[in-house]
Amino acid sequence: MKQSIYITKVKIDKIEKRAMERVFDSGMIVQGPKVAEFEKKFAKFCGAKYGVAVNSGTAALHCACYGVGLGPGDEVITTPFTFVASANAILMAGGKVVFADIEDETFNIDPQQIKKKITSKTKAIIPIDLYGHPYDYQSVKKIVKKKKIFIIEDACQAVGAEYQGRKAGTLGDIGCFSFYATKNMMTGEGGMLVTKNIKFAERARMFRHHGQSEKKRYQYFDLGYNYRMTDFVAALGIEQLKKVTKLNQLRIKNARYFLKHLADIKGLILPKTKKRIKHVLHQFTIRVTPDFPLNRDKLVDYLKDKGIFCGIYYPQPLHLHPHFRRLGYKKGDFPVAEKISREVISLPVHPYLTKSELKYMVKAIKSI
Ligand SMILES: *Cc1c(COP(=O)(O)O)cnc(C)c1O
Repeated sequence: MKQSIYITKVKIDKIEKRAMERVFDSGMIVQGPKVAEFEKKFAKFCGAKYGVAVNSGTAALHCACYGVGLGPGDEVITTPFTFVASANAILMAGGKVVFADIEDETFNIDPQQIKKKITSKTKAIIPIDLYGHPYDYQSVKKIVKKKKIFIIEDACQAVGAEYQGRKAGTLGDIGCFSFYATKNMMTGEGGMLVTKNIKFAERARMFRHHGQSEKKRYQYFDLGYNYRMTDFVAALGIEQLKKVTKLNQLRIKNARYFLKHLADIKGLILPKTKKRIKHVLHQFTIRVTPDFPLNRDKLVDYLKDKGIFCGIYYPQPLHLHPHFRRLGYKKGDFPVAEKISREVISLPVHPYLTKSELKYMVKAIKSI
């Protein structure tokens, strides 16, 4: 029987609706006590000291750049194999985007490539925990040690992931999260940054609120934006946070099923998890190499025909888009990212998949 299996599924349960309703009924719907509660609980979950809630992951990244004092003339190193927001935040803060290629094993920024890109103007590095696998913190930390270079971890895809027992978001000076609808924990739109540094937290709080100190209203210290989160969004976030470990566990279980049943198919490379890492499988991304009977795009079409809707994250690395080519980047600059973007396909791995859907997907792929 033909089914329709999508890459993501949004479910908001009764408890979550009720929590939002209570905020509506209170009449206090903008940033208030629920946002403060969400910040505290989320920071605690991450093992960080402070949380600053905002209205998107992009806003969190922008606040983080401002938080560490990034400005015109500063260079920031990041990967071209990510969602555009990671790089745009640098531009929004007036910085210069410096790309460094990725490792093909984890799809994350390659510390050895970072080394080659560091100059006296390097102010920060934004590594991404792509698909929910934390970046190689120790190697990057070793490179920036003794230099005044900040690490802003883009953990938007990695809530609850762990690196040697430490939660994603604490692997650097500031960690940024997104609660966009498709993320492992979500509030429709929303974001948060976490940090152990009060100065960064206070700067971010000011930046999300038009440059006002939240203690002294109507005194403007600097340019800021309106990046505030509302209390009903925070109420949903508080409930989602209670569920996220369970939801992540279901993703991990689904991934294990694929790893077991898709192993040893010639031409497919399955995702790997490095030692002492908890991968939270925001995406289950496999590589389709020339040894497989179909190329990646043909495989996407074949599966679509069977009602299986996969994702391609990302079909083209950032440096090849007009927006970044304008900075002088060209084809051939980042060969690993370019190769990987032709090979990747993400299979549905979300928590609400049924056993029969998993079986159906495995069967469809095996029949090729
Ligand atoms: C989702 C995402 C963002 C941006 O989050 P928004 O909430 O959509 O603004 C940034 N970086 C990465 C890696 C993401 O996956």
